[in-house]
Formats: sequence, structure tokens, C-alpha cells
Amino acid sequence: ADKAIGIDIGGTSVKGAVIGRDGTVYEEFSVATNAARGRDALLLCIEEGIRPLLHAWPEVRSLGIASAGRVNADTGEVVYATDNLPRWQGVRLFEWAWDSFGLKAAADNDANAALVGEAWLGAATPQEQLVLLTLGTGVGGAYIHKGELCRGKRWSGGEWGHSILVPGGMACNCGKRGCVEQYVSGTALNRRALAVAGGRYASSHVLLEAAHLGDALALKEVRAFLQDLAVVIVNIYCTLDPDAVILGGGIADSSAVWWEWLEEELEGYEPGMKVRQASLGNRAGFLGAAKLAFDQEDHDLDTE
Ligand code: BGC
Ligand code: ZN
Repeated sequence: ADKAIGIDIGGTSVKGAVIGRDGTVYEEFSVATNAARGRDALLLCIEEGIRPLLHAWPEVRSLGIASAGRVNADTGEVVYATDNLPRWQGVRLFEWAWDSFGLKAAADNDANAALVGEAWLGAATPQEQLVLLTLGTGVGGAYIHKGELCRGKRWSGGEWGHSILVPGGMACNCGKRGCVEQYVSGTALNRRALAVAGGRYASSHVLLEAAHLGDALALKEVRAFLQDLAVVIVNIYCTLDPDAVILGGGIADSSAVWWEWLEEELEGYEPGMKVRQASLGNRAGFLGAAKLAFDQEDHDLDTE
């Protein structure tokens, strides 16, 4: 069909849209995840988001699903999810899409889908060797090489969010300690802001704003955050030497404040590492998911 629905299931919200083959977004929805209520409640609330879209665009035949966690892209099963999405693990997304809507589905990790979206319509070209990090509720990661996502043997390829930054460090929602996600996510920057003595920064936004205005204490915190982020990027360069590392997710929205500082941190290690800002914002995930759905429709036609 010439339109598909793409959805993006994250720890804070579920977003979705009807999307055309040229990337046009026709109609969007967004609902709060309320993950704590568990799997069935989450599925119901996603269904409520999708139903009106299907009603308005009955020609849609397939659903692209981007989800946090490790997603088996062949079977649509979420094979692993952290406590950011409690009891999400085990959900079978293909069956759910078929039983609920009669739609065929494609599914992938949310960061993987976001990178597909960026390579399709955004900050990247399909030929490039690229890494994407999303700095939001969690830290998502994805890697694309010669046009192919590297999903890995256990569907955790590119999960830099759960690589270890601080051995024995902070407890992570995945059960390990010291994961990158606990230090360079949006959640982590918020935590940093709140931890500053005197309670003068109520959120990461306030902290960033203060740093921007030259507040020395705020600057020190933001710099420490960027030092951690730089370590992650340097290590990615040492393993993969990509064309660029693209940064997306909520924190990237404020990059005007800190981009140069991050580049300084990187220069301190070695020259030539490129960071690039994601350009599709919080639409990257559902756009990429829709692209995966279109690709699957085409593949099914070819093999019929
Ligand atoms: C999950 C990843 C996901 C990221 C961004 C992390 O907590 O483990 O699979 O990509 O959050 O949503
Ligand atoms: Zn972890």
C-alpha cells in the first residue's frame, strides 16, 4: 500500500503516525506509556492510538513497530526488556498486530528504527557507516554498515546503553551495574541536576539553562556529563570507526547549549571523530518503523 502506520514504544510515551512512501506524515498520535501498569494496559493504550488512524486510512495494510528492548526482527518477539518497560519482555508483536487489526507487522528495537529513519529521511545517507545514540529515558544505540543494521546474535547489537562505563557503579534497570544508561541518559542528567547541593536546579532543563548563562556550578555538572558521553563515543570510534555518531533523543533537543563543549571533550582524545545531530527529532522511530514495514511489503511482493 502507499501508506503504512509506524509506532514507537518508549519508556515515556508511545508515538505513532500514518506515513506515506515518501515519508509524508499524514496523522499522528502520542499517548503516555504508563508502563508500570504492565503489558496488557500498554497494548490497550496503543490500540486506542492506532484505531482512529486505521479508521481514517483504511488502505493501510502494515504496521511498523519500534520498541525499546531487544526485538527479534524475524519473529516480532520482544526477547528482552529492562524495567523501563516492566513485563514487556515476551510480547509477540506480529501476532498482536494481526489479531488486533489484521495488519502485517515489521518490528525492531527503537534505536535501530530511528537510525533507519535518519538514513531514509534525515541526518544520514544509507551508504554511510553510522552509529546512532538516543539519549532519553534510556540510552538507545544502533549501528548500520553497508545499508544493513547490525542486530547481533541475541538482538542486542548496538546496545551501548548497557555497556559498562563504571565497574560496580550505579544499579541499572537491566540488572547490571555501571551501565552507560545510568550516566548519559536524559534521566541521568536530570538526576545530576537534582543532586546538586542546595536544590537550585529543579531539572536538567534548568541545569542546562544555567550552564548556558555561565553558572560555574551548572557548567561543571554538564561538563562531567559530557565527559562520560565523550568516553562512550571514543570507545565506539575505537571499535567501529564510523563515518559519524549521530546523537538523538530528548537531550539532543538542547544541543545548541552543549554541542561545542562535547566537541572539545572529543578533541581532547583525538581529532577527527564526527558527531552529528539527529534531524528527525522524536519522529525518527516511527518513521523508521514505517520504512521497515514498507520494505517488508515490497519483499513479500517479490517473493509471492
Ligand atoms: C533499552 C534499549 C532502548 C533504549 C531507548 C534502553 O533502556 O534497553 O533497548 O533502545 O532504552 O529506548
Ligand atoms: Zn543496563
